[in-house]
Formats: sequence, structure tokens, C-alpha cells
Amino acid sequence: MSDRFIFLSLALMGAVFLVDLSLPLGVAAAVPYTFAVLLALRSPNKWFAPALAALCWILTIAKMGIVPERGSTEMWKVIANRCLALFAIGMTAFLGIRRKQAEAKRQAAEHKLREHLTDLTRVSRMTLAGQFASGLAHELNQPLAALCLQAEIAEGMAANSELQSILREVAEQGQRAAEIVRGIRRLVHLDPPEALDFKLAEVVQSVVRLVDAHARRSRVEIRLELGELPEMRGDRIQLEQVIFNLLQNAIEAIESVNSLERIVTVSARVAGAFVVVSVCDTGPGFGSDENRLFEQFFTTKPKGMGLGLAISRAIVESHGGRMIGEPAAAAGATVTFSLPIAGE
Ligand code: ADP
Repeated sequence: MSDRFIFLSLALMGAVFLVDLSLPLGVAAAVPYTFAVLLALRSPNKWFAPALAALCWILTIAKMGIVPERGSTEMWKVIANRCLALFAIGMTAFLGIRRKQAEAKRQAAEHKLREHLTDLTRVSRMTLAGQFASGLAHELNQPLAALCLQAEIAEGMAANSELQSILREVAEQGQRAAEIVRGIRRLVHLDPPEALDFKLAEVVQSVVRLVDAHARRSRVEIRLELGELPEMRGDRIQLEQVIFNLLQNAIEAIESVNSLERIVTVSARVAGAFVVVSVCDTGPGFGSDENRLFEQFFTTKPKGMGLGLAISRAIVESHGGRMIGEPAAAAGATVTFSLPIAGE
């Protein structure tokens, strides 16, 4: 593919040179070199386009020496003509290279954004899996404890019979299972947050960039009302996850209705020793589910897991804040959380 553009641009440059040689100096035959430069810019080799532009310059000037025939055209016009061709070739190469550089920068930024989204999704999935295992371990703990207790009581009642050793084995295996379950719970509990200084506005903006494509697909406008905010301290990735969950929920809520007003507003303000962040949407609101939002595994979505809000609240609380869900002032839903200000 790259060879094709190198070959085509060189062929075009040769053709322009031959035409230029066959015409008198008065004709602006060097201007079409710009098309050869445009073709050369398509080559992935970043040195090829400037090299070809330089070659076109040399040929434009060389023609004056090789075939100096200028017909009735005055010399000053010939020189002006050649200078214009040199300018056109130079500008085409310069602007083309600048455009390629901007495009490469944009692609690098997009790549970085995609990687970030993958990281966040991975962290989200891992936390979800951890919460799931933790919930399962919690559920299994009680029946296992009851099973061990019953086996021990039965063992006492079956004194000196063969049944006693079987029941002792049951009790021991039950204890082992309970130990394994306790181990899982210890393992998957939320890691303590890694406390670093960060700017909340930057965190919100980076998450907004991540959900922007989803929002645009669903015709949802995201508005930010972030005034002057103090420096915060906490685990930036975990807090990104919180805002990510809230924004996803808000966009999905608006998706579920056909309303004309499709707006998610993220606002933040200082209230005493805390910063209070609200994510407000124009979706259908929580309805009668308001009291169950933060329950693990509570979901009203066909493919939901019902863990997003539970995890978000756990993260906020592990940072010393609180999270609540309430109806929005006009219509829709608002989830609000607070975080203590660093050093307060
Ligand atoms: P999931 O998104 O997997 O359902 P979540 O914990 O994020 O789990 O949310 C639990 C439930 O809370 C959702 O299924 C939905 O019914 C409700 N909910 C969350 N956010 C909103 C919102 N912005 N508007 C309306 N309902 C919401």
C-alpha cells in the first residue's frame, strides 16, 4: 500500500517534469507538482512527503536552466511564476504534514482513552466478582454454621456407636468449609483506598469522556456544574468507578423513556468539611424502588447485576463519605454523595 503511493507520486512528479520541460517558461506548468506532494502525503513513511517536495522544488528551479526558452514572457513574470509554484509546493507539504501530525495525536489520544476504558471496565468487573463472591460467602456462612452445630449435637447423642465417628467427620468437614468461606470473604473485601491528592473536576471530566460516545448514541446531553473545588484526597480509580456507575445508570435510565428532555447534570459544591456531588437525570426516577437501590443484587434491568450502587456506596463510605438516592427536583432521579475535603 505504501509502495503504491510512493510509486504514484514519483510517476506523477516525472510526468509533470516532462510536461514542464516541453512548455515555454511562461506557462505555470510546475504547479501540478502539488498533486504529487498530496499523493506522497498518503504514504505512511513520514520522510517521503518532505523529500518529494524538496525534489519538486529542485526540478522547478532546474527547468529554468535546462530549457530557458521563455517565448514572449518577460523575465520578472517567469520568476514570479516559478516562485508561486515553489510556494504552492511548500505550503501543500507543510499543511499536509501538520494535518498528519494532528491526526496521529488524535489517534494516540483515542488509543489512550480506549485503554483507560478497558482498565475501568476490568476494575469494575473484578470488584463485581469480588462483591459477588463476598455475598455468596455471606449467604453460605450461616447454613454452614448451623450444619456444624447440628452435627456436633447429634455426635453427642450417638455416644459410642459407629454413627458418632461419622458425625464427627461431618462436623469437621463443615468446619473446614466454613473456614474456606471465611477466607474468601477476607480475600475479596474492598481494598483500603490508596490515598492520593486529586482534582475532582479532572476525575469527572475523564469519566465524562469515557461515557460520551454512549451518551451521544442515546441523545443524552451531559452538563457539568463544577464550581471552584478544593483539592481532594482518596483513591482516584475507585472514585472514577463511582462516577462511572452513576453516569451509566443515569444514561440507561433516560434510555428507558422516550422523553424530549434528555439531560444528565453532574454538579459539585462545598458544604462545610465536605464536597457534595450530585448526578441528576431526567429519566423515570426511582419510583417505589427508592429504599432498595443500595441492596446488593437489586436490579430492575434485564441484564443488570444490581451491584453498581452497592459498590459505589461502599467505596464512598470507605473514603469517609455518604451516598443517598432521591427523586430529582423536577422529574427523574438524583444520586448524591459526599467526600471529606483533604486535610479538614
Ligand atoms: P444495575 O445497574 O446493575 O441494575 P445498580 O446498583 O446500578 O444495578 O442499580 C440498581 C437499580 O437501581 C437499577 O436496576 C435501577 O432500577 C435503579 N436505578 C439506579 N440508578 C437509577 C436512575 N438514575 N434512575 C432510575 N433508577 C435507577
